[in-house]
Amino acid sequence: MPGLRAGCYYRYAWQSHKPGFLLTDSIQADHPAPQIIPRSEHNISRADISRHALKVLYRLKDAGYQAFLVGGSVRDLLLGRHPKDFDVATDAHPEDVRALFGNSRLIGRRFRLAHVRFGSEIIEVATFRGLGTEEVASEHREVSAETGRLIRDNVYGSIEEDVWRRDFTANALYYNIADFSIWDFTGGVADIQARRLRIIGDPETRFREDPVRMLRAARFAAKLGFELDPASARIIPQLASLIDGVPPARLFDEFMKLFQSGHALQSYRQLRQYGLFEHLFPTTAAWLGPGTDARGRFLEAALASTDARVAADRPVTPMFLLGVFLWGPVADRAAAQAAQGMSDFQALAVAAADLTREQTERIAVPRRFSIPMREMLQLQIRFDKTRGARALAFLESKRFRAAYDLLLLRAAAGNADAGLAQWWTTLQGLSPEEQRRELGLGRAGPAGRRRRGRGGRRGHGADSVEGDRQPA
Ligand code: ATP
Ligand code: MG
Repeated sequence: MPGLRAGCYYRYAWQSHKPGFLLTDSIQADHPAPQIIPRSEHNISRADISRHALKVLYRLKDAGYQAFLVGGSVRDLLLGRHPKDFDVATDAHPEDVRALFGNSRLIGRRFRLAHVRFGSEIIEVATFRGLGTEEVASEHREVSAETGRLIRDNVYGSIEEDVWRRDFTANALYYNIADFSIWDFTGGVADIQARRLRIIGDPETRFREDPVRMLRAARFAAKLGFELDPASARIIPQLASLIDGVPPARLFDEFMKLFQSGHALQSYRQLRQYGLFEHLFPTTAAWLGPGTDARGRFLEAALASTDARVAADRPVTPMFLLGVFLWGPVADRAAAQAAQGMSDFQALAVAAADLTREQTERIAVPRRFSIPMREMLQLQIRFDKTRGARALAFLESKRFRAAYDLLLLRAAAGNADAGLAQWWTTLQGLSPEEQRRELGLGRAGPAGRRRRGRGGRRGHGADSVEGDRQPA
């Protein structure tokens, strides 16, 4: 089993303080003791930790268990950032955690975890994972012989073992609720200070065990502005195709973290740089080519606008960026089918449906996003019709806003007629009566008035009323 023995991992020069309990000889031989950074020498204050996380930590400690804050929250607090969530690591087994917290439940198959719920906040409590012996491993941990991927991993252990299965040194710091010190086994604090993203252990082994770590590398480099260690940067492009074997549901989760958290543009650039993007969006990557021309600018403009919305605390929906990614391939395929004699309308509908299906086979986009996304693509042809009741119905339809935002991006990239986009912009600023005149319709009858009733006019740039629309 490659990579699961301590001997496979890098060693560092340790400035070693002993933790507050004795290690067994064998573990001590294999695992260096952590550097323990006392409260007086770091900036993490309990005032910045969620009170629910503190509650969990204290209750575990009071019940006689070890309890640490771990992962991204410790990293973000050290960086002076606001953690997205708080994860706890403990030597208590999941059943023990379950018994301590009435508001908890056990989840996960590959890893068993406890979720402790406080209203909308969930504190994830994970039991330390062990490296295991060969015999234990065969029963509780499974590694695919073919790809080196970790399939199951439910061997419990000590913190000294748990640290080595974490991905990056910056993510492997433990904040001890017993004395508010930080335990650093891998040089994570120094790496954070130097803004280095360094994988723990041998990069190839770790990326084979779990190829999603390559996406995480791109994501943390993007989000934190860290520099990826050179060994990882070299090997990721060679291993990128392992992403093809990752379950589609997991890729959707990663897509959300990469592209809906305020650093979509940087994520995209990192994914491109390491040859990962083409394994998430193969048809988009083929359409894009080198990505340095108008096509690349089209995508980058959409990514930047999503980031601007997140920065302004406005709602974002994954369907918009997913649709932007698919637009180029959809338009090309529709044109090819139209050239074979299919009507433009039919060709676009078929291409949008086919490419949506192909993409969702790779990234499991839930239907509540994929359906409006497909519609947004199919509706692009409706902008060509600028007269009549159909145009009015389109203007008033639920999906108009998202489709219009895509039109604006297309026009800015030279992919749609800028005059036409301007016309639709102007139209939205007119009164209902003026709109009808512009569309060549008579005065509104009572039916027309009733239809328009609910939302009224939609001004250019106004925030959307419904959650599934994302104005660019
Ligand atoms: P975020 O800011 O996105 O929450 P995070 O570092 O907390 O970042 P999580 O996905 O919440 O990331 O995971 C919590 C911790 O679990 C990580 O910091 C890391 O130590 C460990 N971890 C998560 N996923 C992996 C993985 N695929 N391989 C190894 N360790 C992982
Ligand atoms: Mg986290």
